[in-house]
Amino acid sequence: MSTVTASRRVARVMRGIATADGAGVKLTRVIGQPDLDMLDPFLLLDAFGADEAVDYLAGFPDHPHRGFETVTYMLEGRMRHRDNHGNSGLLEAGSVQWMTAGRGIVHSEMPEQEHGRMAGFQLWVNLPASDKMIAPRYQDIAAERIVRVDAGDGVRVRVLAGRYGDAVGPVNGIAIAPLYLDIELAPHARGAAPLSEGHTAFAYVFEGAATFGGGDAARTLASGELAVFERSGTAVEFAAGAHGARFILVAGQPLNEPVARYGPFVMNTPEQIVEAIRDYQAGRF
Ligand code: FE
Repeated sequence: MSTVTASRRVARVMRGIATADGAGVKLTRVIGQPDLDMLDPFLLLDAFGADEAVDYLAGFPDHPHRGFETVTYMLEGRMRHRDNHGNSGLLEAGSVQWMTAGRGIVHSEMPEQEHGRMAGFQLWVNLPASDKMIAPRYQDIAAERIVRVDAGDGVRVRVLAGRYGDAVGPVNGIAIAPLYLDIELAPHARGAAPLSEGHTAFAYVFEGAATFGGGDAARTLASGELAVFERSGTAVEFAAGAHGARFILVAGQPLNEPVARYGPFVMNTPEQIVEAIRDYQAGRF
């Protein structure tokens, strides 16, 4: 991974906003807030990380989704999910769930611990118009199925989806051809990850500090900062400071379709939103 020809530049650096969702879970909304409405095909990114049970215990009781996918990556803690089609499971630390809501589910996501830290990410990924009404689908990936790459150069990569060198992540069959990497850097370690030309890409730093972009255009991000990359270029270079770094690097093909959005319903037209609300109220999810 040492030869890089076209490293992407950082287009924008920003922080999320502190908010609460569900029944009062404190979180940081990074994408899907006034300063960054969406980042096609990504609709939302929440970073949650709470030490106190009172800040997460109420969880996310029953709520619907239609027209997109939710991707939950647990770093610490446990979350039980259960939907109205009889699907349920326990997301444990290090696991990822890629849930394609398609035409609709109603589910709950509830912490299954009463103390200790809970941390992770939830990413919302849009579905193309042709897939918005497909049958719901779950990919629950246990921590041990996530592909780990440790090249011995201080760069440790967990491949959740997409490709890093010869390693291919376990998530499959997703419309936007996603890349989802969790990258841990030892102090002063540096590396690069390949990106598909034209795909939207961002990095969110959650430990230490990391520099992205290379050369004159390099930008250094602290923990809690998001870098949005320019669309052009087939790789991104990264380097850690004196204390190491950990970040997620996520990319996907933009859909370039109209977006009509109302809470947990994301469709293409206002009429489809009205239909989604009607179907939900009539119990047709
Ligand atoms: Fe949900």
